[in-house]
Amino acid sequence: MTRLLLVGPPGAGKGTQAAILAETFGIPAISTGDIFRSNVANETPLGLQVKAIMAAGEYVPDDLTNEIVADRLSEADARAGFLLDGYPRTLDQVKELDRILAADDAALDVVVLLEADTDVVVGRLLKRAKEQGRIDDTEDVIRNRMSVYAEQTSPLIDVYDKRNLVVRVDGLGDVAEVTARIVDALAARGLASA
Ligand code: ADP
Repeated sequence: MTRLLLVGPPGAGKGTQAAILAETFGIPAISTGDIFRSNVANETPLGLQVKAIMAAGEYVPDDLTNEIVADRLSEADARAGFLLDGYPRTLDQVKELDRILAADDAALDVVVLLEADTDVVVGRLLKRAKEQGRIDDTEDVIRNRMSVYAEQTSPLIDVYDKRNLVVRVDGLGDVAEVTARIVDALAARGLASA
């Protein structure tokens, strides 16, 4: 049973690593960004609600986000562990995740903080903009996402540090190298891959 969070600024490589780690540990990767994007693409009522918010690089309101995650974590596959990518991002979301887990007498094992400096992540996101055409990968919106992260999400690191859950991993380097660093850091915390 492995319960992990992956935290880090936009462009740190969370999504890429989340997919690999999910495979490695035999747990589902749950990305709120992916869930929202697929709702936008399918023009669901939720998608219509969040489209403009995402395009501006702002956060979707906590009540909507919390409800989606509570639903997803109640599915059968997530009961054997999970890797959350991009949630929680606000203190209110931390509280909600605590509540969901406490209801099952469960707790997080580790919070992986994927670190990368601003110039590098902006460069990566601009490159991705050309490849994937994500509407929130324009330079202005990227800058806004960075400042929203700094204001609303970086304080979460303190909260999890106080619980002694955070491992810091350098997100620079090629994908396999970063994965190896994360796997090593998790092993040092007693989490062996499946
Ligand atoms: P990134 O971290 O690279 O910005 P994500 O795919 O994780 O990319 O998130 C994209 C967008 O989805 C965010 O800018 C935000 O609008 C929305 N979003 C994702 N997760 C959350 C969350 N936990 N709370 C609020 N909004 C979220």
